[in-house]
Amino acid sequence: MFNLILFGPPGSGKGTQSENLIKKYGLKHLSTGDLLRSEIKQGTPLGMEAKSFMDKGQLVPNEVVIGMISSAVDANPKVAGFLFDGFPRTTAQADALDKLLELKKTSISLMLALEVSEEELVKRLLKRGQTSGRSDDTNENVIRERINVYHNETSAVAEHYRKFNKVEMIEGEGSIDEIFASISKEIDAKLK
Ligand code: AMP
Repeated sequence: MFNLILFGPPGSGKGTQSENLIKKYGLKHLSTGDLLRSEIKQGTPLGMEAKSFMDKGQLVPNEVVIGMISSAVDANPKVAGFLFDGFPRTTAQADALDKLLELKKTSISLMLALEVSEEELVKRLLKRGQTSGRSDDTNENVIRERINVYHNETSAVAEHYRKFNKVEMIEGEGSIDEIFASISKEIDAKLK
């Protein structure tokens, strides 16, 4: 299996690049943000709990997202690999993911970390907010809180995988095609 983590702050292009990646490499896309928004849309108790955190730009509790990812991995036993998008976001989530994959006799193959300046992130998210229907993209305070959470809690996840030599940095500013070409180059080198 080829298991990829697409990593980076909110607005760095993970969702956009994921769409291209799943087409080219046939990976199963698991985005915790998408899964949570789907729970909210269905009005489930999990969705209602998650919404109170998401509206403030804070992380949903680890147990909730780890449970969701665990079920999604179990539900897809025959895939070529997973593309994790927006997960793991804490070192506790990274530890849980590593254990979960180990039980399936597999592991993370590569983490690609998109680098984008803070001002560009805010600009992109506010623009996305005009059409995404996401309330957490329309309020600049919530956007800045999400970026703070990334620095304070999520960036450490890259250190976790760096210890295992699994991280490659990607310049995340440029055209979608240029960035996709850099991402593909790293994946192809790893697949060889
Ligand atoms: P995203 O769509 O990845 O930008 O996520 C939107 C929001 O969902 C985040 O601001 C968090 O509140 C929540 N969320 C998504 N993924 C996670 C995760 N792995 N851990 C905790 N909260 C998450």
